[in-house]
Amino acid sequence: MSTRAATYDATVIRREQLSEHFVRLVLAVDGFVSSGVPDEWVALTIPGQFQTRYYTVRSYADGELTLDVVVHDHGLVTEWASGDCVGDVVTVSEPKASFALPDDAQWLLLVGDLTALPAIARIIETVDGLDRLDQRVKAWVEVPVEPIRSYVDGDISWSVPPAGVETATSALVEAIEWPDGPGYFWMAGESAQMRAIRKHLMRDLKLPSSAYDVMGYWRGGGHQRQPRAVDPGPIWRAGKAAGKSDEQIWADYDAAREASGE
Ligand SMILES: Cc1cc2nc3c(=O)[nH]c(=O)nc-3n(C[C@H](O)[C@H](O)[C@H](O)COP(=O)(O)OP(=O)(O)OC[C@H]3O[C@@H](n4cnc5c(N)ncnc54)[C@H](O)[C@@H]3O)c2cc1C
Repeated sequence: MSTRAATYDATVIRREQLSEHFVRLVLAVDGFVSSGVPDEWVALTIPGQFQTRYYTVRSYADGELTLDVVVHDHGLVTEWASGDCVGDVVTVSEPKASFALPDDAQWLLLVGDLTALPAIARIIETVDGLDRLDQRVKAWVEVPVEPIRSYVDGDISWSVPPAGVETATSALVEAIEWPDGPGYFWMAGESAQMRAIRKHLMRDLKLPSSAYDVMGYWRGGGHQRQPRAVDPGPIWRAGKAAGKSDEQIWADYDAAREASGE
């Protein structure tokens, strides 16, 4: 049986500048099936490339797939999305997802940078009205320049990293006052910071692995393009087949990225 994920051809039909560093791309794609899990993501391949980059499905309805792309200093998709890409034909994979709110969770805390905002927004919208969370849903979002308050309704604290610092999402976690009782913590951002956060949750806070999901979305360090991205797809499928938890699978993914020097 092939382990390759299904892919779909898609055409960029709209491009909208949401903020200085944030671009919305709407793709027309037939046959795509959403998993319904709010942090689901696809692998995007842009014209003329074989390398993929991962983007959260902000929404999918009526054959239109919306991706919100952070435009940072330099990068494969960054450079493409910065220009006029309307009309371009790209490829997207079938979605994968990770968010798994435990049945007994009474609170939900979300932390991330701009790359995590699409998932955070979709998670907030998805759990809206869930009685057992009883308005105990809170998010901290780090943005490069200024808040994008109109992006999603909810209890969100916005922050900007200190001057000269690329990202400081780990500092946001240190300031959290953790609620009592069972709950769920979801976070995504720069990979090295996410590794440190996982250790903090596991060793200092002693949260069970089912109570958090912390994902490395990108790697800092001022490299020119990411060399060969380690594809999480095969690691994900092998982990699921082996009955591993999402947390174990992400640890495998981090280990593979570290081993590859990525
Ligand atoms: C599951 C998942 C979901 C994701 N969802 C989204 C999403 O919805 N929207 C989104 O914008 N991104 C998302 N990302 C992150 C995105 O895949 C990476 O930021 C990706 O590297 C961007 O590709 P690029 O071609 O622009 O830059 P690359 O060519 O990959 O990287 C060039 C260099 O830029 C730097 N860099 C990469 N990303 C950033 C960044 N965000 N900020 C500052 N410097 C950076 C690095 O130093 C890198 O070496 C997601 C990642 C994962 C794993």
